[in-house]
Amino acid sequence: MVEKLKQYIGGEWVSSSVAKYTPVTNPATCELLAECPDGGREDVDRAVQAAKAAYEEWRSTPVLSRAQYMFRFKDLLESRFEDLAEMVVKENGKTRDEARGEVRRGIESVDFATSVPSIMRGYKVEDISSGIDETAERQPLGVFAAITPFNFPMMVPLWFLPTAITVGNTFVVKPSPQTPLSMQLVYEIMDELDLPEGVVNLVHGGVEASRAVMEHPDIVGVSFVGSTPVAKIVYETCAKHGKRVQAQGGAKNYIAVMPDADMAASVANIMGSAFGCAGQRCLAGSVVVAVGDAYEPLKAELLKRAASLRVGYGLQETTQMGTVISPAARERIEGMISQGVAEGATPILDGRGKVIEGYEQGSFVGPTILDGVSPEMRVAKDEIFGPVLSIMHARDFDEAVTMINGSRYGNAASIFTRNGKHARDFKYRIRAGNIGINVGVAAATASFPFGGQKESFFGDLHGQGMDAIEFYTDKKILIERWF
Ligand code: NAD
Repeated sequence: MVEKLKQYIGGEWVSSSVAKYTPVTNPATCELLAECPDGGREDVDRAVQAAKAAYEEWRSTPVLSRAQYMFRFKDLLESRFEDLAEMVVKENGKTRDEARGEVRRGIESVDFATSVPSIMRGYKVEDISSGIDETAERQPLGVFAAITPFNFPMMVPLWFLPTAITVGNTFVVKPSPQTPLSMQLVYEIMDELDLPEGVVNLVHGGVEASRAVMEHPDIVGVSFVGSTPVAKIVYETCAKHGKRVQAQGGAKNYIAVMPDADMAASVANIMGSAFGCAGQRCLAGSVVVAVGDAYEPLKAELLKRAASLRVGYGLQETTQMGTVISPAARERIEGMISQGVAEGATPILDGRGKVIEGYEQGSFVGPTILDGVSPEMRVAKDEIFGPVLSIMHARDFDEAVTMINGSRYGNAASIFTRNGKHARDFKYRIRAGNIGINVGVAAATASFPFGGQKESFFGDLHGQGMDAIEFYTDKKILIERWF
């Protein structure tokens, strides 16, 4: 009998009020893992009421005590590290090592939250006028929520929850219905923390649950991560309902390779960027721009390495690339490759129709390299979110910059070069929020904000780092005079 997932509300596991459930399947084996409730307004409201009821007592719990929960949380996550990684593999399809990396990054966000007592300080200036002092104090705001995507089901919610609650808010997570199990396990672990009831809550569901979150009058702010069309909806709807919002969207990340780059080292790095997590990363390198004479050696080295990638089930340690998330995703990705070919690109490595022995029903797409891609093609413009790398050829550095800045997205961009001037100009001129210099995946660590510009981010305060402290607190101004 497959498990029907419950929601975690007010410190208890409770059944959803809805009768409709969607299957959660392992994308490699097609095993039915669980059934996820398609929660809606009633479920969200119950969670928000629990979070609201917990808020006043939680915000007045000393911040040092709140931080202590995070030390214990970290210990418990470490003790379940391999279980968490295995759960990520089973529901998402990435490799075990990629899942371990995800769990490590998730725990780093908990590490960051332990520092809240020293970083949520306000500031004060004496004698702002004669005998008058002025202070800015940081205060939590109430109930926050996160709406999160399938591709990092454990890490992304942890970008938000630990900091939000340690500064004194209470929280509701709505994970992706495609991958709800990693959060289910994280909440089982959090249940052992004995946090006061209602401080953390978990609601399952899709569009209806998201809508209920965005429109709920008692939620003060929403952290969203997902595709650009949905990020736009979330940004607009939350703003309309008077909420703070940070909405991290989709991406189309370019990588420039200069003729002076160390080709072997660069390609080793680009491989991880383009094909890691089967390309289902918002920081995945999607278009490589070969500058001048870099083109031939880059193409040869990429082809050699990508052709030898071992694709398979993520739980097998020898697998180097896992599945994409679902049959629908495979169909969409293969459709985009076909469209690229129809528009004139050459598939020098074609991953369509990939079948893995023993996992014939799995959602596999092999590593794909499209050569001769030009800026007007759909594969150069739209997010593919699969293991597909396009090669474009630029005459010189300036043309590469123009090509990259032509993208409507601005999540990440990298350059591979030995030339400091080009590296500096790249950082200075490229309109993207995360820049890599000889680094293929420029992922901000937990104490830095996760960048994002143009259609990759809607809002002003990013996730993580000091931006998270700003987002989850308000500054109250105190002006005092004593007669
Ligand atoms: P998605 O936009 O389909 O879903 C994200 C979340 O929004 C899920 O919880 C989903 O249930 C909910 N949702 C879906 N449609 C909705 C709607 N119409 N209204 C309200 N809520 C809705 O994204 P996904 O496919 O789960 O994740 C992949 C996307 O996320 C990619 O575009 C990727 O680039 C992006 N992503 C971005 C970042 C970043 O930091 N910028 C990080 C990870 C993933």
